[in-house]
Amino acid sequence: MLCGRSTVTVGDCWYHGYMSSSGAGALVVQAYRFALDPTARQRRMLASHEGAARFAFNRLLAEVKADIDRYHAGEPTVLDGWSLAALRRHWNRRKHQWAVNPVSGEPWWPVNSKEAYSSGLDGLARALKSWRSGRGRFPRFRKRRHRMGVRFTTGAIRVESDRRHVTLPRIGRVRTHESTRKLARRVEAGTARILAATVRQDAAGRWHVAFTVEVQRAVGKEARPAHARRLAPEWQPVGVDVGARDLIVAATADGREVLRVPAPRSLGHAQARLRRLQRRRARQQRGSNRQQRTTRRIGRVHARAANMRRDTIAKVTTALAHGCDHLVIEDLNVAGMGARKPGAGNGGRASNRALADAALAEVHRQLAYKTRWYGADLTVADRWHPSSKTCSGCGRQKPRLSLAERTYHCDGCGLTLDRDRNAAVNLARLTRDPKMRPAGSGPVAGRGADHETDPAHAGDAGGREASTLHQPELGKTGTASPQGEAA
Ligand SMILES: [Zn+2]
Repeated sequence: MLCGRSTVTVGDCWYHGYMSSSGAGALVVQAYRFALDPTARQRRMLASHEGAARFAFNRLLAEVKADIDRYHAGEPTVLDGWSLAALRRHWNRRKHQWAVNPVSGEPWWPVNSKEAYSSGLDGLARALKSWRSGRGRFPRFRKRRHRMGVRFTTGAIRVESDRRHVTLPRIGRVRTHESTRKLARRVEAGTARILAATVRQDAAGRWHVAFTVEVQRAVGKEARPAHARRLAPEWQPVGVDVGARDLIVAATADGREVLRVPAPRSLGHAQARLRRLQRRRARQQRGSNRQQRTTRRIGRVHARAANMRRDTIAKVTTALAHGCDHLVIEDLNVAGMGARKPGAGNGGRASNRALADAALAEVHRQLAYKTRWYGADLTVADRWHPSSKTCSGCGRQKPRLSLAERTYHCDGCGLTLDRDRNAAVNLARLTRDPKMRPAGSGPVAGRGADHETDPAHAGDAGGREASTLHQPELGKTGTASPQGEAA
């Protein structure tokens, strides 16, 4: 079996994971995240560590800026580079001057674990690196509302056998809000090893810990649980459409819808509630107690909605990877991505489009590793592939299709079909295009419109024009169509 590098993301933490196989199993780096119920004292210590990370980040960012000015003025620079190691060296040289009580002169840096400062410096080194490579903007000073993660890599890090506590360096034994059973069981069985723990506060003010864990797990179809529900016959490609209204619509090339999962219902409520709270906050006096209370409420709504989305996506992607052998998904809309982060910060109303983009990114991320765990293939369609605008019956393309049009109606063949299912069917059919290659081997489905506008490809009808005439049935019957796998 092959070894490959992958990036596994959970919450806001990014880990470079790896898979190396030995027999049927593989070593996978995974994250397990648990909400915490710290005591008042532990909350203070957690906040202190977060503050320490922020302080180191901001302090060294000021040094970097000063160095840039010195450089432009033709003076010698102070820092010997912007790597984490260089920033850390500089911090250790100067912390005795910086991290002291201005009145008593007492140093306060020993109060926090040195890993708190390292976490801040690591964040800075990464931000500078991404700015230098043109991927991000120049880092800004972190305000108090900016949540900083603190990553512990050494010392006492463990889940306790009572499954309701975790132990963290400096912080001690912290009660968890939820059971740690999933991880504890693996650790007890000797199939998991904890590498690190990152603590972070969410928008609602709740603390979480994310353990980075090396897990020995079965990989391949054998890893699918016995009770897993099959969604499509063996090796039949399944197209996956991700949207804001219905989170997931999955369908096979012959038009059968195999899975439809609506977006968590309360998300709509959450959005309405957010708009109301944001209007209220705008009216309230700046910095007043009332406004702060509203801000906290907004944070809680955001956090709850984000948790719900995460949970739903986790379940759906597992069901898809368990139940299908070949999944096809549209590429991320890179242009739209990152322009706005829904649920982040206090401002912007998250548009449906932004929510759908974020959901798609999360589905991508989770399918990337889950298909590997459970022995399925994943194909990513070219991002210019017009899966929504193409008629899955005759391959004709609409010049435009507004987001409000929930039903696809084709002027060519008369096909009337749910918009998302139409898109999913088109995605499933893509794999039979000779230009398609499995994900990971570069771009798929040639860019541009050359083949996409070609009806023969879209329907894979192989020129059997007659077959497309039956397509209006496709929406209702939900079983094999004349275009099925006959050939
Ligand atoms: Zn048509």
